Amino acid sequence: MAKIPEAAERPERIESGLLRRINERRLFETLQQHGPASRASLTRLSGLTAPTVSKAIESLLSRGFVEETDPTEQTIGRPGKLIRLATESAVVLGVVIDVENCSVTATGLDGRVAEPHTSRFATPTDYLDLLDAIEASGRALVGESLDRLQGVGVSVPGLVNDRLGEIVFSPNLHLLDKRNPARDLADRLGCECLLLQESYALCLGERLHGAARALDDFALLDVEAGLGLGVMSGGRLLAGHSGMAGELGHITVAPDGMRCGCGNRGCLETLATDAALARMLAEAVGQPVDLAAAATLLTERPADFQHEIRTVTEHLAIAIAAVINIFNPTALFVHGRLLAGHPERFERVLDRVKQRTLTASLADCAIHATRSSKRQGAVAGIIHHLTNAWAPSLG
Ligand SMILES: [Zn+2]
Repeated sequence: MAKIPEAAERPERIESGLLRRINERRLFETLQQHGPASRASLTRLSGLTAPTVSKAIESLLSRGFVEETDPTEQTIGRPGKLIRLATESAVVLGVVIDVENCSVTATGLDGRVAEPHTSRFATPTDYLDLLDAIEASGRALVGESLDRLQGVGVSVPGLVNDRLGEIVFSPNLHLLDKRNPARDLADRLGCECLLLQESYALCLGERLHGAARALDDFALLDVEAGLGLGVMSGGRLLAGHSGMAGELGHITVAPDGMRCGCGNRGCLETLATDAALARMLAEAVGQPVDLAAAATLLTERPADFQHEIRTVTEHLAIAIAAVINIFNPTALFVHGRLLAGHPERFERVLDRVKQRTLTASLADCAIHATRSSKRQGAVAGIIHHLTNAWAPSLG
């Protein structure tokens, strides 16, 4: 008999714990959207009651997720202290492993990335050298505050298999094949490290910082080194069975074309990317051309490379049209440097997209060049993971 009230109490306690964390997450997201705010403003913006806000803030403060700050001089009247996302009491690292270069960025839970807190280096050719370089950069950036390191997001190119917990295959950076640099860094840094396929990271970055802020259905096409696709559908990243969905880059478009990093011939990514354009320029000038050199050549001698620009423009338009026709997104973000990062050349791509896309699908979709970077994506990824682990979002 005595057990009845106890059993009845238990689910209530679980519910109230969950409810508390959901409220805390809602306040965290309100701060992400609006920036630093007073307790009164947070009450108004979140729609929660003042005592609930007060309790949630105390809990967030004690866990180091938010901190108190003095209002700026411009603030009218005499409001109390402002609450902001932790920038001093918490640190996260965003690691970007890319084909030519890598970067490590330290930031707070506001996820703002800045050049003085970023270290960059050429991608080493050996996997252990790569881990050493990332660990050394991370430790130098975090300095004394290693105990405040909440987590690390690691953006990588290639096929990330979530079930196996590793990069099964990275066509343009084979030193990552069968590796999990996030797991290896977790051992070295002693904190949670999250492996993020780079297109997914870019999606999360664009949602936290860019034009995708309020969007639940959008796609992001990364056409820098390889051709990657991230699709956010109904607020969730489309992952497939093992997290490997979205490999549009390895669709064959030229059956007898050049050999791709995946082993096949004539994949879309051998014709539609910045790397493809740089390779074509290298063939034209007879010497190696990296992305920076390609950007310079295109700016200084555009008339000499019309054929190469046209070829890649045409294939990038086919890639964009495929995404819009298949996924019907409200917005498509294109991440790239040589075409997407250059307004005039991007206009020419969009002109070709009109001819390749179904009219009704194109009418639904706005196409933008991305505003966020892989650095922001890696940081946004770990912040998203930390908040998700803490409480589910109510949308
Ligand atoms: Zn391929």
